[in-house]
Amino acid sequence: MTTQILKDTASVLQSRGYTAAVFETGKDACEYLNSKIDGQTAGIGGSSTIDKIGIYERLLTHNTVFWHWKQDADLARKEAMTTDVYLTSVNAIARTGEMISIDGVGNRLSSMLFGHRKIYFVIGRNKLTDTCEQAVWRARNIAAPRRARELNRKTPCAAHCDKCYDCKSPDRICRGMVTLWEPMFGMEAEVLLVNEDLGL
Ligand code: SF4
Repeated sequence: MTTQILKDTASVLQSRGYTAAVFETGKDACEYLNSKIDGQTAGIGGSSTIDKIGIYERLLTHNTVFWHWKQDADLARKEAMTTDVYLTSVNAIARTGEMISIDGVGNRLSSMLFGHRKIYFVIGRNKLTDTCEQAVWRARNIAAPRRARELNRKTPCAAHCDKCYDCKSPDRICRGMVTLWEPMFGMEAEVLLVNEDLGL
């Protein structure tokens, strides 16, 4: 993918009220976040992207950080709900600016909507689609099955990893979906588009 496509998407996001910029690598995005978040409380949503860029370990040295992937899960989820800042990715983003996310527990989705002074989205180029409809399709048929397989869920998508079967399994990880059209009132939102494949 060309950097120009990501830059065009950043412009679309800016027109929707986000702060947005393109980073060539996850390492660059990590350095930027580490320089911006200092002496704050920070929560992190379940995100392979955030894990991959290594920002958790960096922030820990000069912030109070809560992440259920690295700490006591129940406690960290609750503490992360009201932190100054929140970091996460999304399951897909359209070039027209809509961001799509699916969740099972709901902590990540709720933090996209309320509870923080500022939210940072880190999004790899692999999550970019042309349209909102394609972004929904990607979230449901690519990201969710891959995550279900990672978690060893007893779902048809985890077994075959080819599409969403809209299953009725008790193990279903897709319990809710959020479309963000614009930043929510009262919460700053910054999007870091990364010209690398990151996350599911
Ligand atoms: S609804 Fe079920 S089959 Fe579809 S992606 Fe989610 S867990 Fe998999």
